[in-house]
Amino acid sequence: MGNITLNNVNKTFGATTVIPGINLTIEDGEFVVFVGPSGCGKSTLLRIIAGLEDASSGKIEIDGKDVTDAAPAKRGLAMVFQSYALYPHMTVRNNIAFPLKMAKLDKSLIDRKVEDAARVLNLTNYLERRPGQLSGGQRQRVAIGRAIVREPSAFLFDEPLSNLDAALRGTMRLEISELHNQLKTTMIYVTHDQVEAMTMADKIVVLNAGNIEQVGSPLDLYHRPNNLFVAGFIGSPR
Ligand code: ADP
Ligand code: MG
Repeated sequence: MGNITLNNVNKTFGATTVIPGINLTIEDGEFVVFVGPSGCGKSTLLRIIAGLEDASSGKIEIDGKDVTDAAPAKRGLAMVFQSYALYPHMTVRNNIAFPLKMAKLDKSLIDRKVEDAARVLNLTNYLERRPGQLSGGQRQRVAIGRAIVREPSAFLFDEPLSNLDAALRGTMRLEISELHNQLKTTMIYVTHDQVEAMTMADKIVVLNAGNIEQVGSPLDLYHRPNNLFVAGFIGSPR
């Protein structure tokens, strides 16, 4: 399962309203991209879904359950951080195993889950290396592996490719799309990059100053933009 519903979610920091009020439904298995200019509230919205930030008002449901006040670990979601969030002194195996060790699973079960994830991510031959001995793309895959072993009902990505070079970004984009095809788990992917949004999404959510301008498939947005903001943002060359 991986249905996520936002009901009138609002966020203010002090006197500043960052998200006036968002209603959104994400269906199980969808690849949803939040796209919009820097500062429009993408990360804040993702962090509210993850439980890393409280909504000021409104309601969040995951698979029909109200999680508005639930701790992050109780939501069944996995946030994929950028690859530099890996532990440099630990092997790939131990980086991926980390959440399972924290959950005190049996060693044999941990090994099996880590090896399954490594197979999906083509990291089988790198399990005993340390992050410093890997390429940028491999490091990003380790960060994803650490999320996969928790078997979340949804993966949340916040600009995971923004510190990679252009060629590697292209490769990783394909790899994450391929991973979604294999796992068929809900993914929410935040980016300010229109190309990532158009090539990866089943559904794009265009944000502007904390408001949703449009929700639709890449083709919908391209052919039937609601307004000039969407047309300009999706259509503009990089
Ligand atoms: P994006 O990820 O789309 O670039 P953010 O969600 O990071 O945007 O930020 C949206 C707005 O909220 C920005 O104006 C930012 O300055 C503000 N903001 C984010 N976090 C905080 C915070 N902890 N305190 C005050 N303002 C914040
Ligand atoms: Mg951000």
